[in-house]
Amino acid sequence: MKITRLEPFILHAPVTRGGIADSTHSITHWGAPGVAIHTDTGMIGYGFSGTHAHLATDRLITDCIVHSYGPLLLGEDPREVRRLWEKLYKHSPIYWVGRAGITHLALGAIDIALWDLKAKDTGAPLWKLLGGSAAKKVEAYNTDGGWLNWPLETVVSDCRRLIEEEGYRAVKLKVGGADPKEDLRRVEAVRKALGPEVRIMTDANGRWTLSQAIETAGRLADFDVTWIEEPINFDDVQGHLRLAEAIRTPIALGEQIYTATHFREFMDAGAVHYVQPDVVRVAGVTEFLEVADMAQSRNLPVAPHVGDMAQVHQHICFAHPAANLLEYIPWLRDWMEDPARIESGYYCVPDAPGAGTTPNLRAFREINRI
Ligand SMILES: [Mg+2]
Repeated sequence: MKITRLEPFILHAPVTRGGIADSTHSITHWGAPGVAIHTDTGMIGYGFSGTHAHLATDRLITDCIVHSYGPLLLGEDPREVRRLWEKLYKHSPIYWVGRAGITHLALGAIDIALWDLKAKDTGAPLWKLLGGSAAKKVEAYNTDGGWLNWPLETVVSDCRRLIEEEGYRAVKLKVGGADPKEDLRRVEAVRKALGPEVRIMTDANGRWTLSQAIETAGRLADFDVTWIEEPINFDDVQGHLRLAEAIRTPIALGEQIYTATHFREFMDAGAVHYVQPDVVRVAGVTEFLEVADMAQSRNLPVAPHVGDMAQVHQHICFAHPAANLLEYIPWLRDWMEDPARIESGYYCVPDAPGAGTTPNLRAFREINRI
């Protein structure tokens, strides 16, 4: 099998109720700039990144895919994914200018498309190609009821519905608002409404200073919170270590970390308890697996970021022993050929060949419009 052509695409999918916010970002659409990798067999692999749907920046990603990496892929066998990852990352001119950022997002989309092709070529879903099992249970927790821009009554009623009607046993709430007391009031109200058995995760999206985090995250333990996610600046290993030593609530992070090496620094420092890589941010499935293996060897659970890369992450979870809990935010549900599905709070086993990244007809219509 040989790669014959790279065809870029950009998909912008509206988010829930037309707009969501956390402490750091406000968005109306989720962006999926990506690539269709064509081969001489007629088989096509699809991979995409995840963005806040800023068109000019999405075009930087697709330009990088097609014009920077593309010429290095033409004529190659797409099934040799790991060799190609090394070729594109470490042995190309792009390495000099981009070991992170736009180029890493572009490489991630390509790597996902290559794994999609490799799985389709074997006629198996990606999790099976990676050695996984349909017998494994992958629990879902839902973040789509806890946005910071929604009034407390809405958050409480949405979380109630997720637990009582949809069967989830865990939800995530955004914190890091202008008033820390209000953050604590929201978490307390949801805890009261849901009772003691439901797990509640919290996520500050990197908003707090270290002292704010020690103060506010320290008090989250009163509400039996499972973790505080991204309490302070995403890259600060020493800061997270100091926080971990100061509070009882475990720390989760990783959605903003670009490389396996940086993940290793957090893990070895004892600055992270739940490891949250994203195939978008680390460069694809290949580097994600490296991070997950490192976490497993250090007895740390992997709980991948989603927003919304569940399509690929569900496959990794069904394959990797360290990954048993996966976020769910359904923004791409209506745009994929085989959307991720949740039943009674658990991910259903995807059975279509590939990585779950093939867009549906509705998506292609939107892609053509952009
Ligand atoms: Mg997060």
